[in-house]
Amino acid sequence: MDYLARQKKALAAIADKHEALLATHLSNVRYLTGFSGSAGVLVVSTRGTVLFTDGRYQEQAKTEARGTRVVITAGSAVAAAAQWMAGHRVRAVAIEAEHTTVALRAALRSMIPRSLKIRETQGLVEELRMIKDANELQRIRNAVRLGSSLLDTALGVIRPGASEIEVAAEMEYDARQKGAESMSFPTIVASGARSALPHGRASTAAIARGFVVLDFGVILAGYCSDKTRTVYVGKPTAQERRMYEAVREAQQAAIDSVRAGVIAGEVDFAARSVLRRAKLDRYFTHSTGHGVGLEIHEAPRLARGQPDVLRSGMVITLEPGVYIPSKGGVRIEDMVIVTERGCDVLCPTQKELITL
Ligand code: ZN
Ligand code: ZN
Repeated sequence: MDYLARQKKALAAIADKHEALLATHLSNVRYLTGFSGSAGVLVVSTRGTVLFTDGRYQEQAKTEARGTRVVITAGSAVAAAAQWMAGHRVRAVAIEAEHTTVALRAALRSMIPRSLKIRETQGLVEELRMIKDANELQRIRNAVRLGSSLLDTALGVIRPGASEIEVAAEMEYDARQKGAESMSFPTIVASGARSALPHGRASTAAIARGFVVLDFGVILAGYCSDKTRTVYVGKPTAQERRMYEAVREAQQAAIDSVRAGVIAGEVDFAARSVLRRAKLDRYFTHSTGHGVGLEIHEAPRLARGQPDVLRSGMVITLEPGVYIPSKGGVRIEDMVIVTERGCDVLCPTQKELITL
């Protein structure tokens, strides 16, 4: 990873050469330096780039953030950063508004001279993170490959009487066995009427007859995967089959609509239109997709009317769903890389309805 190039891009995003970026969001710190510790702040400025962290990370920071100056602090990392900025004639500090608490902002204000201005920025580093470089794409491909293999694990465990949590546990154990750092979010196993809960975390409920929504992902080398498949326990009715096929068609319409230059909202529209024709759009209660990378939910969002323009190298999910309260739900989700001419579906696996 070329961290110095990323730091340069972040600097270029701050117009004023007397301004410093204070990165407090750990995923942004990691993106800019490689440091994966759980505490630390980064100052990026024309006067220098310095990572402030504490003694627990002395060795790790030096190894991971090679190429970035590391300062180990005994007290608050923000206080050390504030002192450094005041001592290096920084005139303004750009903070990450979405990741700065009111308390942190107040503390920072009290630590820096009055003459040093605080400017709120939004999505400055996140904007850079939207386009993945070759190294990131390789890591994402690896994460998706491992993550996708967990579907087979689930299929081996799902049977009437097994609990949702048992299915999730087997998937998560298998993920760790295969080298995953962790899951990218709590595994969703939602069966029967619970499948109508778009984010139905695995519960102690027994797998019931009907749809089972499985939404799962792993983190590998820092990068997330995210996939959903819906299977059926028992024999689906004709109406349930139609519902499943409508979601499948909607997801395909979304895939077909993706290419560099297309507006995010158009992809959402493509999926929603299929469900409208099937008279199911009112049950599609979330957006069509989101970016994925160091975090499970990143920019861009693929939602109704979203104006972001898709660009080559973005990694997004396409995940329309239909959820009929107290009946059941279906969602199908894949991650794709946006390309100039379309998209590359990562680790495509079967989408015909699997019945168990
Ligand atoms: Zn998902
Ligand atoms: Zn997702």
